[in-house]
Order: sequence, then C-alpha cells, then structure tokens
Amino acid sequence: MKIRENIPISELTTMRLGGNARYVIEVESPKDVAEAFAFAEEKNLPTFALGSGANTIGHDEGFNGVIILDRIKGMEVLDESEDGVFVRACGGEVWDDFVAFCCEREYSGIEAMSGIPGLVGSAPVQNIGAYGQDISQVIDHVEAYDTKTKEMVILGRDEMKMGYRTTIFNTGEDAGRYYITAITVELENREMLKPPFYTSLQAYLAEQQGATLPANHSELPEIEDREYTPSEIRQAVLAVRGSKLPDPAKEASAGSFFKNVYLTEAEAEAARAKGLKVYEKPGSVLKNAAGEPLNFMVNSGFLIQECGLSGKTLHGMRVNEKAALVLINDSAKGYEDLAKARAEIRQIVKEKYGYDLEQEPVEII
Ligand SMILES: Cc1cc2nc3c(=O)[nH]c(=O)nc-3n(C[C@H](O)[C@H](O)[C@H](O)COP(=O)(O)OP(=O)(O)OC[C@H]3O[C@@H](n4cnc5c(N)ncnc54)[C@H](O)[C@@H]3O)c2cc1C
Repeated sequence: MKIRENIPISELTTMRLGGNARYVIEVESPKDVAEAFAFAEEKNLPTFALGSGANTIGHDEGFNGVIILDRIKGMEVLDESEDGVFVRACGGEVWDDFVAFCCEREYSGIEAMSGIPGLVGSAPVQNIGAYGQDISQVIDHVEAYDTKTKEMVILGRDEMKMGYRTTIFNTGEDAGRYYITAITVELENREMLKPPFYTSLQAYLAEQQGATLPANHSELPEIEDREYTPSEIRQAVLAVRGSKLPDPAKEASAGSFFKNVYLTEAEAEAARAKGLKVYEKPGSVLKNAAGEPLNFMVNSGFLIQECGLSGKTLHGMRVNEKAALVLINDSAKGYEDLAKARAEIRQIVKEKYGYDLEQEPVEII
C-alpha cells in the first residue's frame, strides 16, 4: 500500500481540474483496502474511491480527505461450459484490457463496450454501457469491501439495482458504501452478435464490406447477414469511437457530460409532437418523483447539437464537434469555468426544449 500526500486531483482525473488531495493511497489487495479505510478513520477524514478518474471531476479547493486508488490486479476464466463462461477481473485492471482478454477468447457480451476509458472496479458503479450493451446485462456479482460492516462481501446482480447510469453504488443511502475489489461477468450471449447493430456500427461494417451507405443517415445500411465474432465487433467499435470521441490522453474530458433524458409515456408523446426522436427503453428501472416508469429516452447530445452548440467554446470548455454530449476542457481556468459552461448549456437546452439536463460525472467533494 502506497500513501502519498498533497497530490493534485487534476493529475488523477481525465477532465484535469482540481486542487490537491490531502492523501492518496494506492491499494493492491482487499487487505490494503481495509487498511486504507482504517487510515482515514484514524485521521477522521472522508474517503473517495477512484479508478482512472474518467468520470470524476475535482474542485479547485481540492479534497481534505483520502482518495483510495484501485490498483488490484488479476484476470481469470473461472468456469467454462456450453451455456456460458464466468470471467473474473480485479478492480484495478483497465476495463478495455479486460474486454480485449474476453474478445481474444471469443467470449461475447462486452465487446460493444470496447474502448470505454476507466478501470474494472468503476465499471459497475454507473453501469457503463455503449452501442447496445451495458454491464448490467452480464454482471454476475462483485466482490467489495463494505465500509459499514468492515467486511468483504459479495453482491449479486439483483442487489446492485442497475439502471441507466444508476446503481446502489452511486444512488440512494448506500452510495459510496462499497469499495469494489473484483467483478465476475457471465458471457456468451451470441444473439448480440447478429445484425442489426447500432446505426453507426452497422454503417462502419457496411463500409468495410464495400456497400454504399443510404443517403438518409438514420437508415440502416445492408450488411452481410451472419454472426460476427466478438473481435470483429470490438474492432468496429474501436474504429467508430476513435472517429468521434476524444482520446483522454490527448484531450481533457470526462466523456458524456450530461445524461440522456428519460421520459414517461405521456412525456414521450409530447416529445414526439415536438418532432424529437424518442427511443423506447422497456425495462428501464428509472422512475420519476411520482413513481411513474421512465421507459422512453431522448438523446441529450442531439438536443445540444440542435441548439447550435456543437464546436462552440464556453469559458474554455468546448462542446465536442462530433459528439455534442462530450465537453472538452481546452483552457478552463478552474472549476468555476466548467460550472459557468454547464449552466449556460443547461439554460439554452431548457429554453428550447424544456428539459433539465443532469450531469453524468461525479464530483470529489
Ligand atoms: C472519452 C470518454 C468516453 C467515455 N465513454 C463512455 C461510454 O461510452 N460509456 C460509459 O458508460 N461511460 C463512458 N465514459 C465514462 C467513463 O469511462 C466510465 O464512467 C468509467 O467507468 C470510469 O472509470 P474510472 O475508473 O475512470 O472511474 P472514476 O472516474 O475513477 O470513478 C467513477 C465512479 O466510480 C467510483 N469508483 C471508482 N472505483 C471504485 C471502486 N473500486 N469501488 C467503488 N467505487 C469506485 C468513484 O467513486 C466514482 O463515483 C467515457 C469517459 C471518457 C473520458
């Protein structure tokens, strides 16, 4: 276990904002995790679990507490049968290395989540997802340190209450209670490997196969009707992501800055009447304050783009030209600039469409 003092949060997070953290501890085993929390308790300081900081934003005043960096390593195939395969990875592994590990063995179920920045331990926290897959579809259980009982526990899929960017790890009374040390996924859902795919993925595959793309971009182009391998899908996803999303090593961002807007059936009707494209999301666990299910979704990136904000820079924060949901920190002088840009984007979208955009990345406070 390595303890460092006064480390800039800007160096630990991909948005590259934030002053010093009082302590940063790198943990390499579940035993280290227990010791790191005991260290914080002894000093009477708050804690914050951190992976690679790709979904986390620091404040200028820093954090007078202990940041616990997940550096626990290991990946293994646990059990393979005709029905499926269980694969385990420790929290400190890079998520995309884990996807590559599974795709190399042609296990299917996470290939569409190739290229999502971050570590394995953070992946279940906001139920990461992309191109039609999310981790709730494959997760079997997580191993975690329970900061309340001070014991290692196993939490099964149902206990995690996973919805769109929400789980018990980030929402409700148990948010922040569990420190994830490993995850186990169950793979091999080969249905996911048959077309149709997400429009942009299918367009990429069609181009690779020499097909002419339809003039209407929202129409699905024809592709070979066969089962694709997880590796083929992985390569397509990496190519599509690389063409429109910023590389965190080169441009500072936290990925999607706002969540998509989830709606009730009545609100979905109203959105359609405004000419917006509404996606059905049956089985979403999200509910509004009145308890009504939110089974419909409008793409927030589309709303921002339609407000004419793509490519615009507000207070040093640039709205990504190709994926308007992503804010890039070109030259923000601090958190205040980010806050101003966020407020302006929210106001513009609210005035035009009436929706309140909710921030996706978490903040270290
Ligand atoms: C360019 C870019 C593209 C992105 N694209 C996508 C995408 O397609 N889909 C998607 O879902 N996300 C996407 N993201 C967001 C991000 O990649 C994910 O949220 C990812 O899971 C963050 O991993 P991390 O290790 O960096 O998490 P961090 O930012 O370090 O942490 C995220 C949250 O998890 C908690 N946490 C971290 N480690 C642990 C642990 N061991 N135990 C308990 N809690 C922990 C933190 O406290 C925090 O609340 C993107 C981000 C970027 C920068």
